[in-house]
Amino acid sequence: MKVYISADIEGITGTTSWSETELNAPDYQLFQKQMTREVEAAIAGAIAGGATEILLKDAHDSARNLDISNLPINCKVIRGWTYDPMCMVAGLDESFDRAVFIGYHSKGGSERNPLAHTLCTYADVKINGEYASEFLINTYAAALHGVPVSFVSGDVGLTEEIQAVNEHIVTFATKEGIGNATISVSPQLTIMETKRLVESSMKVPRTALQVTLPEHFRVELIYRDHTRAYRNSFYPNAKFKPHNTVEFMTNDFYEVLRVLQFLT
Ligand SMILES: [Zn+2]
Repeated sequence: MKVYISADIEGITGTTSWSETELNAPDYQLFQKQMTREVEAAIAGAIAGGATEILLKDAHDSARNLDISNLPINCKVIRGWTYDPMCMVAGLDESFDRAVFIGYHSKGGSERNPLAHTLCTYADVKINGEYASEFLINTYAAALHGVPVSFVSGDVGLTEEIQAVNEHIVTFATKEGIGNATISVSPQLTIMETKRLVESSMKVPRTALQVTLPEHFRVELIYRDHTRAYRNSFYPNAKFKPHNTVEFMTNDFYEVLRVLQFLT
C-alpha cells in the first residue's frame, strides 16, 4: 500500500506566530522539531496500518523544514517546490492508496487560527462562493487522481470543516485559535494520537473517504491590493471584479490548480 503525506506547519501543535514558521528565524527551531515529530508519528502510524511505501512532501514555505535523518527506508521525501500545479501534493498520482495531511490549518478569512491563510497571505480564495482551505484544494487535487484523504491533523476550525465535508475522514485537533493566541494540546498527546489515528485511518474503506469533485468551479481570488488584482485579471479567461477580486470559471479542477499556481 502506497501512502502520500503532505506536511505544513501552521497547524502543528503550538505554532502561533509567523516567526515560529520561518526557516532561520530564532523562534523556528522548536516548531521545526515538533513538525518533524508529528510527521514521524504519521509515518509510523501509516506503516503500522499497512503502508509499504510512503512519499512525503514538505509543503511549507521553503519546503525545507523537516529533519529527515530518521525517515524509514521505505519513505521518500520531496523537499523544495516542483513549481507544478499539484504544489503541496506534488508527485501524488493514481498509484497511491490514500493521502494524509499533517499540520494543516484553517482557511484564509477564518478567525479560528492566528496563522489562517490559503496558499498565500496576500489573497483569500473562494471556490463556488465559499472560502476555500488548503485542505479542500489538496483533497480535490488528490481526488483528480482518485486518491482519498484518510487523516488530517490541524487546528480545530479545520477539523470541524473536514467533518462537514466527509465525517469518515479521521482528524486530530492540535490547537484552537482565539484572536492572536492559541490553546494547544500537549505535543506528546499529538504525537501519540497521530500515530494511533493514522494507523486506524488506513483501515477506513477508500469508498467511504471519497470526496466528490464539483462539476463546475467559480474561483474568486480576493486580494488585499487592488493593483495586484488588476494585474492578475489578465490571466487567460480571468476577469477583474470590484473590489480587489479576480474571477475565473472552469469545469476542470486542474485548471483551478493552474490558476492558483500562477495567481497566488
Ligand atoms: Zn504553511
